[in-house]
This record gives sequence, structure tokens and C-alpha cells, in this order.
Amino acid sequence: MRKDFLPFSKPSITEEDIQAVGDVLRSGWITTGKHNAGLEQEMCAYTGSADAVALCSATAGMHCVLQAMGIGPGDEVITPSMTWVSTVNLISILGATPVFADIDRDTLLVTPETIAKCITPKTKAIIPVHFAGVPCDMDGIQALADQHGITVIEDAAHAIGTFYKGKHVGSRNVALYSLHPIKNITSGEGGVVTGPDKEFLNKVRQLKFHGLGVDAFDRQTQGRSPQAEVIIPGYKYNLTDMCAVLGRRQLAHIEEFNRKRLEIATCYLEEFRQIEGILPLGLPQGYDFTHAWNLFIVRVDLPDLDRNTFMEELKKRNIGTGLHFRAAHGQKYYRERTVVAPGGLANTEWNSDRICSLPLFPDMTSTDVTDVINAIKDIIAK
Ligand SMILES: *Cc1c(COP(=O)(O)O)cnc(C)c1O
Repeated sequence: MRKDFLPFSKPSITEEDIQAVGDVLRSGWITTGKHNAGLEQEMCAYTGSADAVALCSATAGMHCVLQAMGIGPGDEVITPSMTWVSTVNLISILGATPVFADIDRDTLLVTPETIAKCITPKTKAIIPVHFAGVPCDMDGIQALADQHGITVIEDAAHAIGTFYKGKHVGSRNVALYSLHPIKNITSGEGGVVTGPDKEFLNKVRQLKFHGLGVDAFDRQTQGRSPQAEVIIPGYKYNLTDMCAVLGRRQLAHIEEFNRKRLEIATCYLEEFRQIEGILPLGLPQGYDFTHAWNLFIVRVDLPDLDRNTFMEELKKRNIGTGLHFRAAHGQKYYRERTVVAPGGLANTEWNSDRICSLPLFPDMTSTDVTDVINAIKDIIAK
């Protein structure tokens, strides 16, 4: 058994990164400034977006985006229940109703078919999730949304480096990227909203900083000029330059990080082909894509071993795991308020009970990977 605990995720931080954060600390300007502006520009360049706004989290970004779209009481927003609860919480906080679309049983992605079943005259937005780093069928979802005049917001928290038919995800819509430490790149905490429409992104930029007019920002420092005035009541969701500088350095390594993730995932896939009852996710057919491999998820589907026991047994063997995600509609607040037709979220529920995220991060060694595989073989043999 391994001596030290292997976490399921760990950011790749170098001495140079630490030095760069130290340089910001020594510079005299540590809050939102030139590194924030640099990160925004570099995210635009990498994702092929017209504009980007960096914030303290993707959740903060989603709050500003939904509010800037005018989502509120009487509106419905379609999103999977198999997602991080932040999206569902924000829809609820703004007084709108989350409507849960089921997912494909094998990929955990929402599809044009599962979304179509949820559309009503009240639907204002659809928020597909590019789950684990795999893009949804965006042509199909876009066609459906256009047909009904509904806005699409892409949850790309797992998808920095995810390409759909040769283009980075989020190229047509507002998209949200997370820089939380378990995502493909990190700024400690942080998030970026990208989009094709600069005017809309300016609304997000206002809301993220007290609702002050964008024109009042000093372009040099990205700070507020003394004459700035409130255009709309806003929040305090800005990203510090200590964080932004780390995000910039990480973004410069995204291709290399994702290549290592792919290598590790390929090893796992090879092994799990031979292990019955440990089922990796399937990959979507019918369109070209690049997988960012943010998560490596298996479904534990064995008669005498449930997922929770599997996770505990791995922990006893010094292997960390994650759960992405426990379905939102099964959690107390939503359980008491959500109407789900019987069998309506069957694939979400089946997966919610069986999924488990295994260790996957660029700095994992081949010994780490072997340790995970051997621990799983050991558990199953018992
Ligand atoms: C991590 C995550 C978010 C939120 O990102 P934060 O930066 O932590 O706010 C949103 N959606 C999904 C699917 C996520 O995994």
C-alpha cells in the first residue's frame, strides 16, 4: 500500500509561479490591475472570444451573467441536475425556476433531446455543461435554442482546452470558465466569462465591481477612477492580481497540462477495459472534439460493492476520490421544491448513485497511476 495520501486532484505549481506571485506582492499593486487585464486578453486569444471578464469565481460570473440577462421571477432556466450546485443556486436566488434536463447515461452530457423535453413558453436560457472536459452537441443545442429564441450559456468550468469541431467551446455564446484549484488551470480561486458581444460583457464587468460605469475604469490599472459612478447596484466580485498572475502562468501551460491528463486517462481506460463493473464514461459519437480530461469518472456498478464503500476502501488505501456530482434535485432544498416526472431524470439518478472521480492531475507519476489501479483491483478481489 502507498505510504502517502494521493489526492484526486492537485494543481501544478512551480517555483517560478511562486516567484511571480511574490513579484506582484512586492510590486505595490496587489488587487485588480494589469495581470487581470492580461488574463482577460489571453483568455480571449486562447478561446477565440471577442471579450472576457475575469472575476473571483465562475459562480460570481454566472451570477452577473444571469442578472445581466434579466433572469428573474417567472422565468425558467434549463440545466442538468448533474452539475455543480452553484448554477442551480443562482437561478433560484434570482427568483427563477431551475428546470432539470436529463443526461445521456454514458457521457453525462445533456442532449438536444433531453433539453427539448424541458422547453416551455417560460424558458429564458439553457445552460449545458461540457462535462469532465467533453463538449455537448452544440450544433444540435444551438439549433433548438434558435428555433425557440432561447439564449445558451455554456458552463465550461471543466473545459479549458475543450474543442468542438475544431473550435474552442464557447465560441458562439457567453461561456464560463473556472480557475478553482481542481480545474485544468487555476488562479487559486477565479473565473472568467467570455462572449462574442462586448456590450453584454461590459454589463458583466459593471456588475462585478459595484455597478460602476466601465468608462470610469482606469485602463492602466483596471482600477476605479475617483469620478466613477454607479450605473446599476452591483457586487464585489473582482479578481486580485496575485491570483490573476498565477492564472496567466497556468494558461501558458494549458496544452502541456492537458496532454499529461490525456496520457493518464489513456492508461486508466486501457486497464478498466479489463475490469468488470468499473465503467468509465463513454464518449459522444457523431462529432469531432478534443477532450480536456478535467475529470476521470468511473461508475461503480457491482452487485456487492456500492460507490460509497468503494470510495471509503480507496481512502483506506491512501487514494483520494471525488464525487462530481451528487444530483442537485436530490439535495434537501431542491428535493422539496422540484417537480420531476417519474423516470424523468432516470439517467441522472442512475449515475448520481454510482459515479466516482479518480485521481487525475498533470503531476501524477506512473507509480501513482499504478497505485490507483492496483488499489481498485485489490478492492474488487475482496
Ligand atoms: C467548478 C464548477 C463551477 C463553479 O466554479 P467556481 O469557480 O468554483 O465558482 C460551475 N460549474 C461546474 C460544472 C463546475 O464544476
